[in-house]
Amino acid sequence: MPMTDPLSPPLLQINENGLFCQVGNFYIDPWRSVDFAVITHGHSDHAKAHSRAYLCAKPSASILRIRLGKHINLQTLPYGESITHNGVKISLHPAGHILGSAQVRVEYKGEVWVVTGDYKREPDLTCDPFEPVPCHTLVTESTFGLPIFNWPNPEEVHKDINAWWDYNAIQGKICILFAYSLGKAQRLLSQLDANIGPIHTNPAISAINKAYEAEGVYLPNLDNSSGDARPGSLLIVPPSYLNSRFTESHYINTTAHASGWMALKGMQIQNRSDRGFVLSDHADWKGLLQTVEDCNPEKVLVTHGFVEPLVKYLNETGVQAYALNTPYQAESPILREQNE
Ligand SMILES: [Zn+2]
Ligand SMILES: [Zn+2]
Repeated sequence: MPMTDPLSPPLLQINENGLFCQVGNFYIDPWRSVDFAVITHGHSDHAKAHSRAYLCAKPSASILRIRLGKHINLQTLPYGESITHNGVKISLHPAGHILGSAQVRVEYKGEVWVVTGDYKREPDLTCDPFEPVPCHTLVTESTFGLPIFNWPNPEEVHKDINAWWDYNAIQGKICILFAYSLGKAQRLLSQLDANIGPIHTNPAISAINKAYEAEGVYLPNLDNSSGDARPGSLLIVPPSYLNSRFTESHYINTTAHASGWMALKGMQIQNRSDRGFVLSDHADWKGLLQTVEDCNPEKVLVTHGFVEPLVKYLNETGVQAYALNTPYQAESPILREQNE
């Protein structure tokens, strides 16, 4: 495969605005406003407002308009199709993280880089599955880049959630399940057994549900019209509702969190919920390694999360890997994911 001229800058590099393609003059998930931003998905650490023009995968469009404003200058691209921007070929490929999430493939003079954005390898009824894209350089996230993160089968987790709800509903209790408004809430909804009882969400989640349904994702009917939740109901609300007036109101009888962080026992205690379900929209340790194997890159750049352990492990196994430092590096990955 052709190699880059060692004197020319790398195809993608970090500058003060974010991950930049100099030859194509565009950014991927910039953290400041820029002229042209390719957005991997709608979570707030990836999609920032006020850029002049945006490009995203087609199923992500309504989400970005909800998050960044109705009137943004937005161009969309179906998965697998490409555009050429200042001579650089750009295509977007499913990342399996949330609806519309994309990996960005960038090609210039035969050299291919792939930026995964956030991704997972487990199946999810609410989005297209991750597609490994062969490349020379892979820029991968590493939110859960430690061997202790090893996800249980999500099908079993969904069964456990329904069983937990059913058990409490029979006793006339009301269940509250904390989950991120964008992605996790819809993934949970898609697998709930609506025969158990009424399902409620907060307005932010309901608004995003509409974007999912418009893209053909099946979600169960909600019972948001009836005011207070009845006994036997399940409520899905974002983690920010924890310890709010909402949860302190008398009718909440039992609580649970659904997140990858529930794999850490301490997180469940810290969150003061009764149950923790281990369900993540990010790759676990084996998912990260599988992805490197599947994409078979010459070089891996690791960003977002537990960077050093993954870099070290890859180097020890003969894969050339480096840390790609971003402002998010300094922040606790736990805090960062909880913000999504
Ligand atoms: Zn995300
Ligand atoms: Zn993220």
